Amino acid sequence: MKEPENNVFDILYSINVNDKTETKNSGKSKLTYLSWAWAWAEVKKRYPTANYTIEKFENNLPYVYDSLTGYMVFTQVTIEGTTHEMWLPVMDSNNKAMKNEPYIYKVKEYDTNGYPTGKFIDRKVEAATMFDINKAIMRCLTKNLGMFGLGLYIYAGEDLPESDTPTPSDANKAQRVSADVQKTYNCANCAKEITQAEYAYSLKNYKKALCRECQKLEKGKPC
Ligand SMILES: [Zn+2]
Repeated sequence: MKEPENNVFDILYSINVNDKTETKNSGKSKLTYLSWAWAWAEVKKRYPTANYTIEKFENNLPYVYDSLTGYMVFTQVTIEGTTHEMWLPVMDSNNKAMKNEPYIYKVKEYDTNGYPTGKFIDRKVEAATMFDINKAIMRCLTKNLGMFGLGLYIYAGEDLPESDTPTPSDANKAQRVSADVQKTYNCANCAKEITQAEYAYSLKNYKKALCRECQKLEKGKPC
C-alpha cells in the first residue's frame, strides 16, 4: 500500500501543466512560470483542506531583506497533513535580485548571431516595490506546490515548451532552469559559497547569509 504523501505526489505530478505556463524571455535568461491561480485551484479541487501560509517576519512584513543579496520570501503549504516550505528571491525580469534601491550591473554584449562582441553594456535593476514582492510570493507559492509534484518538471528544466525562434540562449538550455537554482550565494562572514537552501535557512534564522560553520559560531555568540 502506498503512503498518503506518495499518492498526493503521484496525482499532482501527473497533471500536465504545459499549456498553463507563461515564458518570460529576456536576453540570455528564460524562465517558465506556472499560473499560481490555476495551480492552487488544481490542488484545492483534489484536496479541499489544503492550505498555505505566507511567512511573516519583523514588523509583520512578508520578506527578509539583506542589503548584500536582496529580498527573500517564504511560504509553507500543507496538503493531507504534510507541510513543505519554499523560498524565493525577489528578482526582476532579467533574473537579478532586487534591492531597496536601484543598481547597475554589466552584461556581455552579443551580436545578432549570438556571439560575444567583447563589449559590455549597463543594465539597471529597479528597487523592489510591494508589487514585486507580491509577485515573488505568488511564484514562491507555485514553486512550493511543485514540492508536492505539481509542475515539478518545470523546475527540473525538463520538457519545457520550446520557443519557435532559435535564440542565443538555445545554446544554454541548462540555463532555462529557474534562475534562482543557478544563482550563487556566499557566506557574509567568510565568503564561502553556500547552497540556496543554506542561504534561505540562514537568512531566515540569522538575518544574514551564513555557511553552516559560521551559523554554529553565530549561535555560540553571547548576546
Ligand atoms: Zn562562513
